[in-house]
Amino acid sequence: MNRRQFLYSAAAGAALLKQPASELAQETRLDLVIKGGRVIDPSLRIDSVRDVGIAGGRIVAVETSVEAGAAAVIDARGKLVVPGLIDIHTHAGRNLTAPALCLRDGVTGWIDGGSAGADGIDAVVAVAKASPQQGRVLLNIGRAGIIPEGDTKDLALADVGAARAAIARHRDYVVGIKARLSATVVGDNDVEVLKRAQEAAAPLNLPVMIHMGQSASSMAKLLPLLKPGDIVTHMFAPPPNAIVDDRGRIFPEVLAARRRGVVFDVGNGVVGHIRWDIVEQVMRAGFWPDTFSTDWNINSGTTGVVDFPNCMSKFLGFGMSVPDVIACATVNPARTFDVFRDRGTLNVGAPADIAILELRQGEFEFLDNYENKITGSQRLFPSETVLAGVRVPRG
Ligand SMILES: [Zn+2]
Repeated sequence: MNRRQFLYSAAAGAALLKQPASELAQETRLDLVIKGGRVIDPSLRIDSVRDVGIAGGRIVAVETSVEAGAAAVIDARGKLVVPGLIDIHTHAGRNLTAPALCLRDGVTGWIDGGSAGADGIDAVVAVAKASPQQGRVLLNIGRAGIIPEGDTKDLALADVGAARAAIARHRDYVVGIKARLSATVVGDNDVEVLKRAQEAAAPLNLPVMIHMGQSASSMAKLLPLLKPGDIVTHMFAPPPNAIVDDRGRIFPEVLAARRRGVVFDVGNGVVGHIRWDIVEQVMRAGFWPDTFSTDWNINSGTTGVVDFPNCMSKFLGFGMSVPDVIACATVNPARTFDVFRDRGTLNVGAPADIAILELRQGEFEFLDNYENKITGSQRLFPSETVLAGVRVPRG
């Protein structure tokens, strides 16, 4: 799309938004109506029972009542109807079958967080291209990707030239750089590797996502190297070098990074990334996550990750409301990557990517990465997904 086309479609979108939604719904033949659910859309500050009307793959009405006529109907009574979930740290790019699996969990947009570096990026981009929902990729600054001996312990693997060439080959699919900075991955090269990641990102001003936790250097040393829009994933990683000190105070450099627009992301994962006592301290200090993410892969069903709604549910026990956790999985990640700029919302005119979830009451166990369990009284379960206005078949 050139700039002129973009301006044209932006103007058309604005015209669409000016028209009252009810009029639109009356004159547009609807394809699908989601009826009677509790619609929660933090981008519009909606939390009430509504019908959602869909035509031509877009949302045309979010109203108290939408006449379905000949349209297909999803009965969402007793369920939550929310914008499609956006997971900004997954490893969905590793398998051709992965994107369809997480789509059933309500994930209508994903980012692969550095599964591959310059040497293996073509295969991951191929998965993103074949994905039914939007999938994009962060390029690992280590050219061999995630490797057992440590992505960039050998500094020669943090190859800026190779990274830039890989980005140039896949400009529409590589949307940032990933730098994994744990000592087991990078040794004591963390500062230099992060500098190289920024160098690779600089020509297109792409965001850099750092994987923090158990690094050789402190966050105070690493965070000043991040620019606005960069992302810190695994924000609840325990020491050494957490975002809190041993008395539960957030380090001033962490607060300063947030103030200048660095995004703090959960990155649930399996090993070394989240421990309940750290979550407790950080949440009590009022330093809530900007975005949730799962660090999901096709084996997540058998780990403490399970699925994105399960990871969201964990934070209901730490003071966040249901709309708060939905914001961290919809509008906030949509604002983090430009590719999702019209997603994460049920605004009239937006693509009809929708997650229908069940909020069950009961006793639910949630695992951190250290076999510690907490019990919550609420858990979100995936129920149905609508992608571009089309109901996704259940597995
Ligand atoms: Zn990861």
